[in-house]
Amino acid sequence: MLRRQPVTTDGKVVDRLQESYRVNKPFKPPTLAKSLQRDQPQRKRKRVSYKGAQADSDDDDDKENKKKKKGFNDSGFNEADFADHDLKRFPKYEVKPFDAVASRRFSIPEMKNKKGEVLSTAMTGASLGIRPLAVLIPRPLHDPMADHAIVLYDPTMDNRETEEEKIEREKEEARIKALKEADEKTKGLYNPHKPLRKLLGEDDKKKQLTQKVAVVLSPILSKVLRPHQIEGSKFLYNRTTGLNKENQYGCIMADEMGLGKTLQCISLMYTLLKQSPHSGKPTIDKCIIVCPSSLVRNWANELTKWLGTEAPGVLAADGKGGRGELEMKVLRWVNAKGRNVTQPVLIVSYETLRTLADVLGNASVGLMLCDEGHRLKNAESLTYKQLDMLNVKRRVILSGTPIQNDLSEYYALLNFANPGYLGTKEEFKKNFENIIIRGRDADASDKDKARCEEKLKEMAGLVTPFIIRRTNDLLSKYLPIKYEQIVFCGLSELQLALYRLFITSPEIKELLKGTNSQPLKAINILKKLCNHPELLDLPKELQGSDHLVPEGFCVAKAGPKGSSSSSRGTGRISGVKCEWSGKFVVLERFLRRMRAETNDKIVLISNYTQTLDLFERLCHGNGYGYYRLDGNMATTKRQKVVDQFNDPNNPAFVFLLSSKAGGCGINLIGANRLILFDPDWNPASDQQALARVWRDGQKKECFIYRFISKGTIEEKIFQRQAQKQALSSAVVDEVEDAERHFSIDLLRKLFQFNENTLSETHETFKCRRCKDGKQVVKSTALLYGDASTWNHYTNAELRNNHDDLLRAEVGLPDVSFVMQYISHNI
Ligand SMILES: [Zn+2]
Repeated sequence: MLRRQPVTTDGKVVDRLQESYRVNKPFKPPTLAKSLQRDQPQRKRKRVSYKGAQADSDDDDDKENKKKKKGFNDSGFNEADFADHDLKRFPKYEVKPFDAVASRRFSIPEMKNKKGEVLSTAMTGASLGIRPLAVLIPRPLHDPMADHAIVLYDPTMDNRETEEEKIEREKEEARIKALKEADEKTKGLYNPHKPLRKLLGEDDKKKQLTQKVAVVLSPILSKVLRPHQIEGSKFLYNRTTGLNKENQYGCIMADEMGLGKTLQCISLMYTLLKQSPHSGKPTIDKCIIVCPSSLVRNWANELTKWLGTEAPGVLAADGKGGRGELEMKVLRWVNAKGRNVTQPVLIVSYETLRTLADVLGNASVGLMLCDEGHRLKNAESLTYKQLDMLNVKRRVILSGTPIQNDLSEYYALLNFANPGYLGTKEEFKKNFENIIIRGRDADASDKDKARCEEKLKEMAGLVTPFIIRRTNDLLSKYLPIKYEQIVFCGLSELQLALYRLFITSPEIKELLKGTNSQPLKAINILKKLCNHPELLDLPKELQGSDHLVPEGFCVAKAGPKGSSSSSRGTGRISGVKCEWSGKFVVLERFLRRMRAETNDKIVLISNYTQTLDLFERLCHGNGYGYYRLDGNMATTKRQKVVDQFNDPNNPAFVFLLSSKAGGCGINLIGANRLILFDPDWNPASDQQALARVWRDGQKKECFIYRFISKGTIEEKIFQRQAQKQALSSAVVDEVEDAERHFSIDLLRKLFQFNENTLSETHETFKCRRCKDGKQVVKSTALLYGDASTWNHYTNAELRNNHDDLLRAEVGLPDVSFVMQYISHNI
């Protein structure tokens, strides 16, 4: 290797050996060269004359002197002589005995005036030597006058005293009072010991320091927030700081999916952690987020996504690592106070929180956010009780599903957010519930009904100030148009034959007589049949169907038992007999046309993983790239799959999603089309599925299709859903609940097969805008919750439709009717 040799300034090569010698020589400070040559000590001991030191005169005879010298030599050092000799000149200091000192009282030195009178003095209690605090002029963290600044708290407008401030003020007043009293006592006494601050007249600064300042949303957030999110953040700040109603610090954030509940809560949390009306002080120092375990990571990611490097430290209890380790971490979190809090945010799942109840028991936490908070609608549940026990004053419940008109749910949620606001459970029952229930009874007297109305109004007046709920119609301002269409499809010949066979089977007859108590099983068979006959294990599941089962019939593998991955992509069975199912025929045409004519991507959602298996076979047979996400997929993998699909350069254009996969984190804005292949009993679950595509970040026009097999059980389910949404009556959350609600009458309706209708739902509307299969009067206002106000198309009319895929269905027998909702006009 070439290396330049080091040279000195005059170009000579440095001799390394010499160099190292020079370096290793000990360093000496420069001195005068002369002094080094000195060979004898410069200073000599001073000669001391001891003459006259002794009492004896110097003139004493030498003998004596000699004798002394001799004595010195003989017996060594003569101590007594020496002490005696020095004491005369240097008296020795002796410590006084302790008793002599301690028994004397300490007294303040007296002062006398000119007349010689003693002045009495009073103590100030001022300590010495303490540096005064730096005087900082109170000012807000962010400039409230800046462009686009969002002021959450304006001291000139909301200068109302909160409970905390009242306590603080009373403390301060008591202190001042005590000081005054002390002053009073020593009045007239001359006190020269005034604190310097008083002498300088800086005492009044205190008043200035307690001045309140504006709380301004951080510019990091204010530049990304939508107007409705700003409104939401203001609402949250106002409620959680008790500005709305004295002593009430909770609220419910019930915005629909896709409006950014998470971001609004993050902006609240971040503001409270950083600011308060008191300059330089945060409102809270710790925050706890409780959410379903699948969302723990998601919350942590959202924090970094929106706040970047400003994101507060997070302790995510997502079940990784041992239990002991987690408990230690949480314990440390609990004990940290003030400046020791390095991780102000604890994110924990409902399940983990239950195991941490002991550790978290007495921790004082500033703010609690409960995501998917409808889990708290039952006040008797363990989760509710344990969360309620936590020592947190500010509580925010996040819930995407609407709060039902169920009074006990209302009470439970609000009582959690604002404990005691509606009184105890008994009081609430007496004051509201009983009266309202009596008034709602079918044979209630007019008086009862009037009282009920009155009470409902009163309750709404109490409750609504603490709930914020916006529908995602708001998004239409930022998002491209969404066409949501209900597509009624006919059944295939095979499906028809099987359907007819099943509803006339002895099993159904028994059900309708009330002797068979398994309606859910029968309902499931019909639902599956509507999707595709191959979802059924024929002829086993449908007695007497042997002669109908066609050749090549192959039961789709039941998905959930971990088999999905093995069957996937192996190509064991490739392709699907689409002609056996009406909906599949339409689906196949849709996919083919999309692939050929557009670069759109599509999401296919079903309640059954088996249906997803069939979708897979369909994609595989046609060579379509696809992704699949169902309940079996680990939560950690999900995000990766979603990101890959959303990448516009990824050729896969189909995303298969199980509606049971749940979680709000699945954001499929890479696609602009979505098919909900079968309806669910719970409209909320369908709504969640539908919101995957039309949400923030979507750039293309969206087409949402809900496939319904006409005249079949699917239509009844859909109608029941619509009813629920319109009336918002007791909604069934769980399928188990659904079963309990089935009356014989309802079952009879469910199993009725309306074979010759175009759309039974449309018939039930008794639509006046349509005549002879043509919509003659255009809808004046499309209401999302009410399909009777939507645009109605028969198959022939679809040619006037905006959507290419549906327009192509004109003249083909499969789509019989379409109802269309348009989110907004440009
Ligand atoms: Zn109509």
